[in-house]
Formats: sequence, structure tokens, C-alpha cells
Amino acid sequence: MIHRSGTERRSTIGGNAAPRYRVYTRKHIDELPQLARLSRDERDAMKAVSAVLPFRVNNYVLEELIDWSNIPEDPMYQLTFPQPEMLRRRDFQRVFELVRGDAPEDELKAVAREIQYRLNPHPAGQMDLNVPRVDGEPLPGVQHKYRETMLVFPAAGQTCHAYCTYCFRWAQFVGIQELKFASRESSNWVRYLKVHPEVRSVLLTGGDPMVMTAKVLRRYVEPLLDPSLEHIRSIRIGSKAAAYWPYRFLTDKDAGDVLKLFEEVVASGRHLAFMAHYSHPHELEPPVAQEAVRRIRETGAVVRCQAPLIRRVNDSAEIWADMWQRQINVGAVPYYMFVERDTGPRNYFEVPLVRAHEIFRDAYRSLSGLGRTVRGPTMSATPGKVMVDGVARVGGEKILVLKFLQARDPRWVGIPFFARYDPEATWLDELEPAFGARRFFFERGDGELLGKGDRRVADSLTPMELG
Ligand SMILES: *Cc1c(COP(=O)(O)O)cnc(C)c1O
Repeated sequence: MIHRSGTERRSTIGGNAAPRYRVYTRKHIDELPQLARLSRDERDAMKAVSAVLPFRVNNYVLEELIDWSNIPEDPMYQLTFPQPEMLRRRDFQRVFELVRGDAPEDELKAVAREIQYRLNPHPAGQMDLNVPRVDGEPLPGVQHKYRETMLVFPAAGQTCHAYCTYCFRWAQFVGIQELKFASRESSNWVRYLKVHPEVRSVLLTGGDPMVMTAKVLRRYVEPLLDPSLEHIRSIRIGSKAAAYWPYRFLTDKDAGDVLKLFEEVVASGRHLAFMAHYSHPHELEPPVAQEAVRRIRETGAVVRCQAPLIRRVNDSAEIWADMWQRQINVGAVPYYMFVERDTGPRNYFEVPLVRAHEIFRDAYRSLSGLGRTVRGPTMSATPGKVMVDGVARVGGEKILVLKFLQARDPRWVGIPFFARYDPEATWLDELEPAFGARRFFFERGDGELLGKGDRRVADSLTPMELG
């Protein structure tokens, strides 16, 4: 655990007044008093990395979450501040030299773009595979991958109170227009929902929908409460605001309006799930952070918690056990542990799947059943959400046992399948089928995913084919 020195600096947050949100980005790197302890090289390195990867913090993260006596190791610092090793050495050198040489902004931007495009900006086919259509027209800013759940990316919610350095949606924040995923209009996706009764759940995501004012958030939530959409049984809001800016639910000008909107969703007979992103137990330590959860729960919403497993931030069983226990203490529900996705600075943060499973298992074992609602570690991969269920030995072969928690084809869910044991693999595409099988059951002979036209169904496959 982190222990505050308490002497290092006095917080400007607190007292009775409503704290004012202050945001700091790349252009503030030389001005931030907390960064004055860094050398010029270190600050220029930060400017170099943040020319490629998005960087944004706020006064609460700076003053309440980061332990400045413990940088660069402090997990909250790793979580929010760019580090030189996040880029490949050669890429880093290139941008660093441009920053050092005071290169013109457009030259820096051009080089940054080139690097960004090499970082797999939109993993799991999210730009084209999962976009639904109305009358043949694609719905911008909407994803419908799993039968029951539709994702909406509200245009006004495409930023966050602070950015996580590992964010898999980083491409949303660096201003690549053709990669930007955002919905302005609710009328089109409401039309889509009316003719898709299989959708039970709508998930507002981003960015962070809680950066929107209550008034704008209402424009996305209210249409879902229409009597013609009775089949929408739950509304979820994916957000890091409770961790990065808890005042959103306490003292912000429209905090009351936000909570009232939550109450209206609950009063409509629907489940409102506040999908809270907590990366480290420390985020639940400040009393205001706990108070935010209490206020959200008071509306009748359920707070469910999810986060990826990230090297240098939360890669130990003790951290996860502590985090899940704190979530349970405040009445929140541990939900998913994700595997860091194959995008952006993943090399800096990745944890091998076998190790991820060990961390999950050891943390899970330490909890009572109340915490065992959590599932993971799970990869949000192109075919679906694949969980690493464990390591086993079958007939002398050491294997990884996997299964889909969600899948593009709902028939794939819950069927165990097996990969050769590989202690280094960090993603599904690095795994080989076990037992000498040539492909996984959800793949065709050519390595492509089975599609709607393919008749092979997992139920009819032999164990060899399930390899
Ligand atoms: C994770 C995810 C969901 C939600 O899945 P649940 O298992 O219901 O939480 C929906 N759509 C996409 C594309 C996802 O990645």
C-alpha cells in the first residue's frame, strides 16, 4: 500500500468549497510544480511520448492520488504520466530529437501520426466488424458485437477526467479523424433498437460519458426510457470518474442532476449499472472516493468494477485482492479483470496470460464468495471475450483451458477449448491449439473466423477439433 508522507505538499483540494476541476496536458509539462523535480531530459521525454500518446491529468489526480515521493514507480504516476519506454526506442529517439530541436509543430505531428498508425489504433476490428446499420447506412459511434448489448460512444463524452496511459481507446484522443468513433444523434440508434428486440442492454462508453453535463447525458439516456424500448432492461455507464474526479457526484454544479437522472432510470424499472473503472486500490482510499460510490448507490444504481491487469500498476495478487475487498466494502461488485489489449504501448504494460491467470487465481482465492462475482483474466479479442480459465495437464500435455464469456456467435459461449501451454503468450493470436489440432473451433481452415454462413457448430466438434 501507499503511505502518504503528508509533509510533501499541502493539498489545495478540500475544505468546504466545491473543488474546481483543473486539467493539465502536454503544454503544461514545464509549468507543473510537481514536475519541477524532473530533469530537463525527463520533461522533454515526457513531451516526446505525449506527442504520440494522449496525456491529460487533473488537480485531484496530481494532489490526491499520486505519491510524488515515489516517482516514477508510484502506480498512480505510471497510470497517468507518459514514460519513455512506452514507445519503441527508435520511435522515441525520433520524437525526442524533434522536441529537443524545437521542430515545427506540423513536422512533429506528422511523425507522431506515422507512429500512431503502427500502434494498432483500433484493435478487434472495432471500426468495421461491429458497426450496425439502419436502412443500409452505418450508425456512427455505435457498436453491436454481442447479441444482448449495444455500445454507444456519445460525441460529447469522448474525453476523460484524466487519461490512463494504457488506454485501449487512446486513438479516440489523439485526433485521428477517420479513427474517431462518436455518435451525435440518438434518433438513428433508437430506430435501430426498436427493430432489435434481442438487445437487452445499452452501454454508454467513451472516453467517459461522465465528462458530459447532466443535460447532455440526459439526451442519451432519456430516449432509452421510452415505452417503445421496454426490451432495454439495463443501461450501463462505463466511467472512471469515481476514481479520477469523485466530485462529479458530490459537489460539481450539476452533480444533483446527474444523480436525479440515475434515479429516473431506476424508477423506470431498469437496472442501472455504473461500470466503474478502478485500476488500483489506492483510488478507493480517499474519503471523497468512497462517498462518490455511496451517492451513486443511493440512487439505486449498482456499481460494478472492471479494469485491466497492467504491469507496473497492478500486477500482483495482493493488489487485486485489496482492490476487490475495498470494492466489496463500499458495496460495489467486482466484475471483470481484463487482459491489456494488443494496442498502443502494450509492450510496456503487458503481462503474459499464464501469469495473469496466476494473479487472478491467487487474488480470487483470498476472497469470500461475495468477491467471486469477478471473472477473468479475459481478453476482448476479435472473436469475443476469451477467459483464461486455468492450466491443466491432460494425457501428458500441459495446456491452457480457455472459454468465451462473450462471442460474436453466441453459440460459442461457455464451451471450454484448449491451447498449448505457453508461458510467454500475451494474447489470443499467440496461442496454438492443443492436442495437435490445426485450428481453434471458431476458426475456419484459412485461419479466418467462422462466419454466419459457416455451418460448423462447436457442439458437434470432437475434443481434438476443440484444441
Ligand atoms: C465487453 C463488451 C460488452 C459487454 O459485455 P458483458 O459481458 O455483457 O459485460 C459489449 N460489447 C462489447 C464490444 C464488449 O467488448
